[in-house]
Amino acid sequence: MLDLLIKNGRVVDGSGLPAFTADVAVRDGRIVKIGQGTESARHTVNAAGKVVAPGFIDPHTHFDAQLLWDGYAKPALSHGVTTIVPGNCSLSLAPLKAKHRMKLVGMFNQIEEMPLKAFREGVEWDWETFSDYVARIKRGLAINVAPLVGHSVLRLWVMDDAAMQRIATDAEIAQMQDLLRQCLDAGAVGLSTSFIDMDETLQPVPSRYADPRELDALAAVLAQYGRVLQVVPEFYDPDLTIARVDQLAELSLRHGIPTTFSPLFVNADNAAAVDRVMARVDEQFARGARVWPQVQTRPIDISFCFAVPSLLFIRFPSWYRLMRFGNHADVIAAFRDGEQRTALIAEAAMMNALWPRLVLRQANSPANRSLVGKTLAEIAQLRQTTPVDAMIDLSIEEDLDAHFLAADMGHNDDARVAALLGHPRVHIGASDGGAHILSFATYGDTGFLFSRFVRETALLGIEAAVKKITSDTASIWGIAERGLLRAGFVADIVVFDPATIGRGAEYYVQDVPGDGSRYVRDSVGVDTVIVGGAVAWSQAHGYTDACRGEVLPAAVSA
Ligand SMILES: [Zn+2]
Repeated sequence: MLDLLIKNGRVVDGSGLPAFTADVAVRDGRIVKIGQGTESARHTVNAAGKVVAPGFIDPHTHFDAQLLWDGYAKPALSHGVTTIVPGNCSLSLAPLKAKHRMKLVGMFNQIEEMPLKAFREGVEWDWETFSDYVARIKRGLAINVAPLVGHSVLRLWVMDDAAMQRIATDAEIAQMQDLLRQCLDAGAVGLSTSFIDMDETLQPVPSRYADPRELDALAAVLAQYGRVLQVVPEFYDPDLTIARVDQLAELSLRHGIPTTFSPLFVNADNAAAVDRVMARVDEQFARGARVWPQVQTRPIDISFCFAVPSLLFIRFPSWYRLMRFGNHADVIAAFRDGEQRTALIAEAAMMNALWPRLVLRQANSPANRSLVGKTLAEIAQLRQTTPVDAMIDLSIEEDLDAHFLAADMGHNDDARVAALLGHPRVHIGASDGGAHILSFATYGDTGFLFSRFVRETALLGIEAAVKKITSDTASIWGIAERGLLRAGFVADIVVFDPATIGRGAEYYVQDVPGDGSRYVRDSVGVDTVIVGGAVAWSQAHGYTDACRGEVLPAAVSA
């Protein structure tokens, strides 16, 4: 007797080979046969007309906190994602001493735009070590988690305040190595570091104070385990990015480890720069180095309101200072004050091409509700004012709860993005799921890969697209026995309709602890998501309580 039989689907097995029609049989959490199913099964999924693929793997997320109150990483699981990698960008929630908790929360708030209240009200802080954190998230885990350790937290643990003041001594580096070993033993998939991020006081995060010998020493530990190094380079500058590609290549060659960096965007003003970065990546691969650029599928869309700091304003110092360090009343007061308002508008002029294009996406007062969906250009015309003035006025009228959308800010040239996504060295990821929850909803980036690049523009084949987010990812990250539909492999499987899969509309929902809100997307065209051989979510019945998620690549036995 089988546990599960998925009948008559088009099997796209993750290898990149052509699809074929078959039944997929599952028993005891594993795929036992792909072919003609004759044995009876406890549960049957009719997949006629649908694609049966390995579960998707999302290698760049920040679900670290959400996993503490939501073992499904909603709604990622419903989009077909069966494995997530949290702990990116030098930040993880462990190892973390009690005295550093609020420091780390501040960094998560600044860098990943995760609300302070969610940490205060949604998190019971009952761990310090990595193994205790792993034990904690394993309770009620419905999705697989391959967690990175953040370099910034290793530094904090070992160096306290000095982590944000200076390079480490030899003794401190040795302690960081020991600590990293403990994390890898407890199941961490690798180490993340950042060369760019800032904390809540706008000072560089701890990882940025490391000198090259510290990173080299930590890479040596990764080498003992064959694990991954993830890096955020100075992505706004192609020359600095290329220098980081070279640095990663040296670490990869010297230690024999895979490395990956993100983000890498194709914008109208940097197309040539992306070609240069990719040329250097190809050169380094030719030398034998593994430096995988990570590229997202979706265009850059940013939503914001003035109640919380937004990354859209990071290039406008007066605006950003006001949002970051001012409270609600300070922002309203500045918008009302003639002098401050004039100064803000003058600073905003450096992106005057942007403001008219912004769309009002939410307003609560009856007077303004009819304006929702209009651009600031249209609203400014109705009100006989400028787009920036309209944005400020609406924000005052809505008590800062007016939401604006800056759509298609870049990475939206389909042909160029598809060429990059299809490049054999490019690793698809960078969803940032669980982070930036008030700026955008990236859930459905995988659906968007299929809707935009496979179905609508036919720039990628379905077999290639599936391979990119399943077996390629599993290979790069050293995640064994997943990412392919093969007899003997773990049964992480997604059944979807290739004619309808997409990312769903973005909407605002209040489901974050501490009355927090976020943007999400419901899955479209995904039929059934199976984790560890059990249905974890289905279109018909929603989330189940099977909870077969595991922490990968799993603890190392001594
Ligand atoms: Zn990130």
